[in-house]
Amino acid sequence: MNFLAAAKREIGALAHAMSALNSRIFEKPELNFKEHFAAGRITDALAKEGFKIRLGRKKLGTAFEASWRGGRQRPVVAILAEYDALPNLGHACGHSMIAAAAYGSAVAAKRILGKRCGTLKVVGTPGEEGGGGKLLMIREGWFKGIDAVIMAHPSNRNRAVARMLAVMELEFKFFGKSSHAAAHPEHGINALDAVIMLFNGVNAMRQQTPNFSRVHGIITRGGDAPNIIPEFASAKFFVRGLTVGDFEFVLEKVVKCARAAATATGCKLKVVKNPVFYLPFEPNRTMGKVFRKHMDAVGLRDGGTPENEEIGSSDIGNLSQVVPALHPEFAVSGPDVVNHSRDFLKAVTSKKGMDAMLKASAALTATVCDLFTNPSLMEAVRREFASSHLGLKSTKRKS
Ligand SMILES: [Zn+2]
Ligand SMILES: [Zn+2]
Repeated sequence: MNFLAAAKREIGALAHAMSALNSRIFEKPELNFKEHFAAGRITDALAKEGFKIRLGRKKLGTAFEASWRGGRQRPVVAILAEYDALPNLGHACGHSMIAAAAYGSAVAAKRILGKRCGTLKVVGTPGEEGGGGKLLMIREGWFKGIDAVIMAHPSNRNRAVARMLAVMELEFKFFGKSSHAAAHPEHGINALDAVIMLFNGVNAMRQQTPNFSRVHGIITRGGDAPNIIPEFASAKFFVRGLTVGDFEFVLEKVVKCARAAATATGCKLKVVKNPVFYLPFEPNRTMGKVFRKHMDAVGLRDGGTPENEEIGSSDIGNLSQVVPALHPEFAVSGPDVVNHSRDFLKAVTSKKGMDAMLKASAALTATVCDLFTNPSLMEAVRREFASSHLGLKSTKRKS
């Protein structure tokens, strides 16, 4: 059965409420784990539609689960909502739209399926922008018993299936010795030189890294005055790889560059790894195929951008290693306007943007309906997941 016509009809009926929800969240941007207003609006709207609400606690005080059970328990399908904003840029990643699309798609799927539905959930996942909210939620067991998760993210392209990179943040702290830079430079140990050598080492090393790997850093401390040999200097880096193996390969090389810089300058080195480690996102291509079909049919043509290209990282990477997951993108802007920019911020409330969000929500609704009513599809989704996820073990490359 093709649910797309029904999905379009129901999303059409919900368009006004979805647009209003997007605008309300957009106008009151909240940073990671402080999204109280947004979580409140989304859960209020879903509670009115008969969804049972469970709220998170402590650091996850802005996480939630809204669930509704049709005629049976299984399968359990969750639509994910994100709703955190960026520092100084508000909703320039368009998470207000992710939330509005999740709300609209869940309500539409419930209305279409009724008793034919299993357990339909909207899971509110706070702190995606640098917070790793989904990691904390995985640890607390929020996704246990869920058969598949899906969400839709605004972007500058339509793409059903994209991978994402593993990423870790590291800080390198170099400890040297201060001295008068003119009278007695020979008594000093220059920590800034160590940082500069680290950057030069990394830049020389780049050529020998696997495709799609990324290393990028900033100097966080570089000394206090030109006439003092810097006794302390530090840099922060992000290291990314398409697979855990690629990531570990590059990470080892970057750490070696730091050690070499410390040895050369005589500094002591401390490496601080941020424990929030985003795993690579492994999209469920079985779900992706279904979503692409609906996406194309609704007028959001998948532009064919390869799944490895122009990708970032997200905490849904970790989730994709424990449950089948899909994270398609829908175009709210032209190709030159990218997420996290002021122009993208405008696109998030534009007419073109809203139109794309409604179309993506219809595709999302139809995909969710397929997952609930087609047991062989659900089985194929599970089979693909069983053969593709990491089992959270690393696969290290040989140096
Ligand atoms: Zn973002
Ligand atoms: Zn985002």
